[in-house]
Amino acid sequence: MMTFLMIGAHPDDMDLDCGGLAVLMHRRGHRVIFLSMTNGNAGHMSITSEELRVRRSQEMAEAARLYGGIRYETMDIDDGYLTPDIPTRDRLIRYIRKEKPDVIITHRSCDYHPDHRACGQLVMDCSYLVGVPLICPDVPALHTHPVILYCEDRFTMPAPFRPDLAVRCDEAVDQQIQGVLAHRSQLLEWLPYDGHWTDVLEATSEEEAIARLRERLQKRFSAPVERFPDAFPEKTTYGEVFQIDEYGGPMTDEIREVITGKQS
Ligand SMILES: [Zn+2]
Repeated sequence: MMTFLMIGAHPDDMDLDCGGLAVLMHRRGHRVIFLSMTNGNAGHMSITSEELRVRRSQEMAEAARLYGGIRYETMDIDDGYLTPDIPTRDRLIRYIRKEKPDVIITHRSCDYHPDHRACGQLVMDCSYLVGVPLICPDVPALHTHPVILYCEDRFTMPAPFRPDLAVRCDEAVDQQIQGVLAHRSQLLEWLPYDGHWTDVLEATSEEEAIARLRERLQKRFSAPVERFPDAFPEKTTYGEVFQIDEYGGPMTDEIREVITGKQS
């Protein structure tokens, strides 16, 4: 059994970016933890931050339930205010040491959202220090460094995303979409407003809005297969791709086989 720690800046980030892998690993009996660095209390246009903070915490619990018991946690830092500072780095070092993940998945540090950048930077900053005993000496240092993977993105500076690993998610996508839709304040409210999703905004009922969101999510989750067809030699409709970080522990055949479901 392996432990997968998926660290996102916001409560719905990892559901969207690696929820397929999360579902598959959880189903196969591995330990999966979603850690949101912030509480997500900024993504709304009409309710207060405190109301949103409470709602997002409830949404995380509902998503966890729909995923069949994936663990969700948050560092409860205010949304929009995540920085790669030393106190946050120390909190994350302690967290990683306590959970002893085999694999960490996160954002790349080149991303449009400052919280995503900070989150990726924090993971990179922890990658070596989790093994240094005199840093945060109250929690024993790790002797084996976790493998670190980055979720796919479309950013090109300083370098475009590289698909080192591909995961076929056809069997996971329905459950992933259910989990993503549990973040209702985002999917039904903030994201359509912020992104001018007129198809969703103009829906005349919640049912119709959800049907249109489903279509959008299906398109999003099939995009990696269209973008990187060579990474998916088998017939695949929905997939996720990951880039291996060079600061993390070395990728092993065993971890690669668990993630891709294939013998190398
Ligand atoms: Zn985010």
